[in-house]
Parts: sequence; structure tokens; C-alpha cells
Amino acid sequence: MMSPFSYKNNVLCAESVPLSAIAEQFGTPAYVYSKASITSNFAAYADACKQYAPGGEATLICFSVKSNSNLAILQLLAQCGSGFDIVSGGELLRVLAAGGSADKIIFSGVGKSRDEMRLALSHDILCFNVESIPELHRLDAIAGEMGVRARVSLRVNPNVDAKTHPYISTGLKENKFGVAYEDALATYRIAAALPHLDVTGIDCHIGSQLLDDAPLLEAVDKLIELIDQLAAENIVLHHLDIGGGIGIDYQGDKPVAVGDYLQRLFARIDAWRAARHGGKPIKILFEPGRSIVGNAGVLLTEVQYLKHGSEKNFAIVDAAMNDLMRPAMYQAWHGVQEVIAPQRSDTVTYDVVGPVCESGDWLARARPLAIAPGDLLAIMSAGAYAMTMASNYNTRGRAVEILVDGDTTHQIRRRETPQELFALESLLK
Ligand SMILES: *Cc1c(COP(=O)(O)O)cnc(C)c1O
Repeated sequence: MMSPFSYKNNVLCAESVPLSAIAEQFGTPAYVYSKASITSNFAAYADACKQYAPGGEATLICFSVKSNSNLAILQLLAQCGSGFDIVSGGELLRVLAAGGSADKIIFSGVGKSRDEMRLALSHDILCFNVESIPELHRLDAIAGEMGVRARVSLRVNPNVDAKTHPYISTGLKENKFGVAYEDALATYRIAAALPHLDVTGIDCHIGSQLLDDAPLLEAVDKLIELIDQLAAENIVLHHLDIGGGIGIDYQGDKPVAVGDYLQRLFARIDAWRAARHGGKPIKILFEPGRSIVGNAGVLLTEVQYLKHGSEKNFAIVDAAMNDLMRPAMYQAWHGVQEVIAPQRSDTVTYDVVGPVCESGDWLARARPLAIAPGDLLAIMSAGAYAMTMASNYNTRGRAVEILVDGDTTHQIRRRETPQELFALESLLK
């Protein structure tokens, strides 16, 4: 769909609501999300699954909770039929609190603790995406103690180059994630021999913000080879999980359309099934995050001061790196738009920075803006890996979250108060 953020009567709106009205009612900084954008981005996956999955192949879209874990957003996605990909016990409890069902939850991550495994087993989640041999042994032991069986998939590292930022590339040999491709067969044999594990699937996740689907298709080819080799050893897998990773437009980027990617993917799977898999169905899972919520949100902020230096001009705003870590962490580029459409003739080039005491506290660099103190800015593409990465550094309360639905606003998380930030601390007796 078109961006849910567009100018109406010279005011930038979320769906039909002017961002200036949201700032007035809820204050700044504020994350503002569009409900229609989230549901239509989810529908792009769901509709393509319906359209292209060969022979009605079973599919499950497991939203990556770490990209945006607000309860209302998880609830909205659960209502759309989404499953969930979690990376902690905390995320599991969030999904359940939001009304997600445990039988659609998969649990990823390299460092699952004993308590997290117990919690997930007690809810009988769909599958553990296991990333190492020691993790297999720990999970087997805990399932044994609990008298249950754990369904497992191995996260295999297909060693393909996702051609994205090194910090968000995960499928290469040097990454900490997954089991090396060369070790996958041996690791599956170990898993299959453990008494309290049911080996049900295979998964990968090669990176994030991928603009091209070629590395994903390459990864699928490599996983399919493994499925065949395992079948020859009587280790029969029931699902293939391709992970997430489809990118969004941050800076004029042109990510592959989800429908085109899924069409190509299912065509390969269909050809393989017909030729080698004996036509047996295999369930296909996806773990998208950014492509569902990334461009469905903005971070709304107010200009506090303008500072004109000899080298640079700074626009100091009331949002900071604690609200949006991505620029400091990955040198990520986020669009910045004036909420009131400006007169373009009098722009000045600014670095947009926050109040936090770090030189790394910047949100955008060298942007032409026509602004004055008190003006509002929207930091674009802040629906994914923004609030979920927010911190309380400098004892800054995390921002309010607003979900817009047409002309209605819902506060889906209130702003933290300073007292709440130190409420868990104690003075010495
Ligand atoms: C972060 C993550 C995802 C989601 O990635 P996106 O790029 O946001 O789609 C999916 N699977 C795993 C295992 C992840 O760690």
C-alpha cells in the first residue's frame, strides 16, 4: 500500500489524523503507527501464500516479535491469523497476553535459558528453533524432566551472502547464529537420537533488510538439499522455515515485492516436491518483522533548539538515541519530514540530534529542513526495531505509543514517568 503518512492540507497525517493533533493530545516524543498499514503488510504475505502455495500447501506466517512487541500490535496480528517468532520467555508471555496461540509460536535465539525452555514447554509451543548441539542436549534433558517432548527445528546457516549491513547479516560462516551447513546432517542425527525431542523442521534466517530475494532463494535450495539427504536417512521433516529478512524502503530503497518473492519461492518448492520430495506436502513458515511494521510507524518529535556552528548546524529535538537506536548502532538512515509542509526556499542543512550526552546521539545527518524551535518532525520508518530497542538511558522515560485507525487514535502504551524509572531501586538501609 501507499505510505500511510501523507500530507493533507499541508499537514502530515497518519491515515486521517494530523500528527500535530497527536502531538497536542499525547505530547512528544511519540511513536505513531498505522493500523491499516500493518494489516495490509501482513495481508501481502497471507494473500501470496493463498495464491501461490502449491496444492494448498500449509503455511504459517510467524511475526518476528522483536521488531515490534506492543501488545495491541501483537493482538492485531493474532486477529489476522499470525503466528509469532519469539526470542525470549518475555516475548512468549507478551504473545500470550495479547491473545496469540501457543501452537503458532516458534522460539528462536542462540541462548535459551533453562527457565525459558520450561516456560515454552509448559505452553506446548509449536517448535524450538535450535541453534547448537549443547542447546539440543539441554532441551532434551528439560523435556525429559517435565515428561514431555519438544518439537525442534535446526537453524541451519546456509552460508549465503545476504549483501546487507554486517550487523544485520546472519547467514555467513562467521556469524554466531545457527548450525554450520557442513555440520547440519551430523547435528540432525544427534537430535533424532535424543529421546525427548521430535525433529519436525528446518529453518534459517540469513539477515535483515534484504532488498533482493536471490539470497533467500539460494538459501532455500540449500535447505531443500538437506531435507532430501535427511529423508534418505529416515529423518523426515514436516516444515521448512525460511525466516524473515525482506527489507523496506528507508531511503528510496526498492525491496522486492513480497508477492513476487513468495511466487518464486513456492515455484521452487513446488518443482522440488514434484521431482524429488515425492509430492509429499511440507509446511512453509515465514518469520517477517521489518516488512510488516517498519514503514507502518514514525517517531514524532519536537524541535527544541537550533544551534548554528561554524562546521555544522544542529536541530536538537526531544527524541534521542534511547528512542531510536538504529542510527547510532548501524549508521541507519531514516527519513525526516516536517509535520507542517514547509516553504522549501529557506532550508538549512541540519544534523538532527537528541538531548542524550553522547556524540553518537544523532537521528539524521545533513538534512535540508525549514524549521524553527517548536516545530514538529516525523522520523520515518520507525515501526520496527525502534520502541523494542528503546532504553531509559539518561533516565529518559520511553515514549508513548499511538495506533491510528482511520480517524481514531488509540494510546497503546502510555509514556513512562520518571518515578517509574527508579521505582525498582532501593536506598541503602
Ligand atoms: C530478527 C529475526 C527475524 C525478523 O527479521 P526481519 O528482517 O525483521 O524480517 C526473523 N527470524 C529471526 C530468527 C530473527 O532473529
